[in-house]
Parts: sequence; structure tokens; C-alpha cells
Amino acid sequence: MRAMKEIGTVAVAENLARVQERIEAARRRAGWRSEVRLVAVTKQVPPERIAEAYRAGVRHFGENRVQEFEDKRRWLVLPEAVWHLVGHLQTNKARRAVELFDRLDSLDSARLAEKIAGAAAAMKRTVPVLVQVHLGEEATKHGIEPELALEMVEQMARLEAIAIEGLMTMPPFLEPAERVRPYFRRLRELAEEIDRRRLPSVRMSELSMGMSHDFEVAIEEGATQVRLGTALFGPRPAR
Ligand SMILES: *Cc1c(COP(=O)(O)O)cnc(C)c1O
Repeated sequence: MRAMKEIGTVAVAENLARVQERIEAARRRAGWRSEVRLVAVTKQVPPERIAEAYRAGVRHFGENRVQEFEDKRRWLVLPEAVWHLVGHLQTNKARRAVELFDRLDSLDSARLAEKIAGAAAAMKRTVPVLVQVHLGEEATKHGIEPELALEMVEQMARLEAIAIEGLMTMPPFLEPAERVRPYFRRLRELAEEIDRRRLPSVRMSELSMGMSHDFEVAIEEGATQVRLGTALFGPRPAR
């Protein structure tokens, strides 16, 4: 048992080291434009492996389902971990999500924003959020259409208990990853456009984009957060 566990520890730590080198190389190519935060996406990853990542130095974690995180969380004691919700949230789970997560990175409707703001206000909290933008068809149907993003952000900005910090997207899976570049660029341009409006209480300092197969291209296009599952933990079983 002990030997197995140690092999596992080495694996996540080694994957992390390799990924960090690739992140730094991509930042160098991009002229060190921004800091890049690694968010380890731990959906379907058991608590022991999450703890390994924490021991290896990861502090930001992402889950895409409220219920799954609620089930796993009791097995995790990671005092400095910051938990991001990165998946679609149903409005009836907004309150629970605000209780469980530190950051909500996949805000995809005005109605949801209102629910979240209501829950956060009741808890006397301000929740940092990213607005998810829908670019392209395949990857997910969730997210706000780019043409409506500015208007939505303006609406959401009136809600006091949420702090809009940037945009997130989940583009289609395309090979080679270079083909995803236009989507990343589009998200950055959209953030710049919104930023120029200087909306009160809206910052566009975070761009959450890039997953295991395309994060280097995302960083070259200005990502400040990359969301990595497979590159750290290996392939997930099919749901
Ligand atoms: C699963 C998931 C990821 C990580 O995907 P990998 O390809 O395994 O790196 C990133 N973002 C979201 C929203 C996800 O659901």
C-alpha cells in the first residue's frame, strides 16, 4: 500500500513539474505578459490524488459539479486550497455553490448571477466571478454569446455581492491545438473591449482559457488561468 501511494505521489508531482515548465516556456514566448495561475481540475479525481497535488504545491482547484465536490470535500483537509467552480450551475444550486466554492468561474446567465448575488449578500460575502462566453459550437452549449457579453456584464455589474474579474471560455476541441488560437484571441479581444468601457466594479484582469491539450496556445494569447485535468492526473474514465 505504502509503495503504491508513493508512486502515485511522484506521478502527480512529476506531471506538475513538466506542466510548469511548459507554462513558463509559453509565458516566455508571450513576452512574460502575465502571471499564469494553474487551476487543477479535479472532476472524477479521488481525494487522495487531489491531496497529492496539494502536497506537490497546487493551491487552486476546479470542480465542475456541486454534488461531486460536496461528496469529496469531507475527505479533504487542504487549508490553503482555493476552490473554483468551472462547470455549468443550475440556479437551484446557486446558494450551495456560494457556500462551497471560493470563486465561480462559469457564470453564464443574468438569472444565475442574480441568484448568486442574492445568496452571497445573505452570507455577507462578495463572490469573485468570471463570465463564461460561448465561442464555437462543439465543446459546450453553456456560456453567453459574445455579441451579448458586454450588455450582460453591464447588467451583472449592478449586483453588489459579485465581483466580475474577467472572462472564461471552453472552445471546441480541435487538433492541432493551433486551430483553437482564434477562439482564445477572440476572448481576449472581447475582454479588452469590455475593459475599455470602464464599468464600475468590473475588472477584466482574468482570462480563464486553455485546457490540457491547448493551454500553451492559450497562454500565448494572454490566458491568466489555465484549467488542467488530464495533464496532471492522467485520462479520466468515461462518464
Ligand atoms: C474537465 C475540464 C477541464 C480540464 O480538461 P482537461 O482536458 O482534462 O485538461 C477544464 N475546464 C473545464 C470547464 C472542464 O470541465
